[in-house]
Amino acid sequence: MKWQSIEVLPMEPDANVVFESETYLVTDGCAVATCDFCRGNGAGKPWAGWSMYGGIGAGLITHWMQMPAPPRCEYCDGTGDVHSLDGEWRGTCTCPAGKNPAPL
Ligand SMILES: [Zn+2]
Repeated sequence: MKWQSIEVLPMEPDANVVFESETYLVTDGCAVATCDFCRGNGAGKPWAGWSMYGGIGAGLITHWMQMPAPPRCEYCDGTGDVHSLDGEWRGTCTCPAGKNPAPL
């Protein structure tokens, strides 16, 4: 992952997208925060732009990048299944991975 210039949009306006919002890391060259980038199609006019409610004002953003993945669970390593050191299955984890198992 690396910083992208604000001159490059994360998503281009698309007439087929009614509304879409994605959170990105943004910087003003000093601080780092998150900001939503939204796009949509209102009355046949596709648009795209940075939210004005981000951690850094939309007009001050100089660069953005994709959000990093959250750390993996220390008990199940993101699998949702907890095993003991000898490999025995001990049950389903209580973290989001265990509560929302990935479809097989
Ligand atoms: Zn877990």
